[in-house]
Amino acid sequence: MTYVVTDACIKCKYMDCVEVCPVDCFYEGDNMLVIHPAECIDCGVCEPECPAEAILPDTEPNQEKWLELNTKFAEEWPNITQSREAPEDADEHKGEEGKYEKYFSPEPGQGD
Ligand code: SF4
Ligand code: SF4
Repeated sequence: MTYVVTDACIKCKYMDCVEVCPVDCFYEGDNMLVIHPAECIDCGVCEPECPAEAILPDTEPNQEKWLELNTKFAEEWPNITQSREAPEDADEHKGEEGKYEKYFSPEPGQGD
C-alpha cells in the first residue's frame, strides 16, 4: 500500500504534510502535491496533518485514479521538503467539489 494525495489538495497546497514526512516523498505540481508511492513508507504521519483531508491510504475505496496520478506525476514533478506560504485563496477552495475537473494542472511546481 501507500498513501496518496487526492484532488482535495488542488489549490490548497497548505504543505503541512511535507514538514512531517520522514522520507521526503512529496513532489510539487503547479497547484497540488503528490506522494511517490515507491518511496512512501506508509507511516501515516502526514494524513492527520493535512487541513484539507487530502491524504488517504490507497486501501480506501476508489483510490485507483489518485494512485495512478500520484505515481505518474511523482516521476515528473520536483521534490518538495519544506513548506511555503499557502496561496492567498486556499481557504476559498477548501472542500470544493470537482477540483480535478476544474483546475488540475500537469505543470510542475518549483520544488526546493
Ligand atoms: S497538507 Fe494537504 S492540502 Fe496541503 S499540500 Fe499537503 S496534501 Fe495538499
Ligand atoms: S505516509 Fe509517511 S512516508 Fe508516506 S507520504 Fe505520509 S509521511 Fe511520508
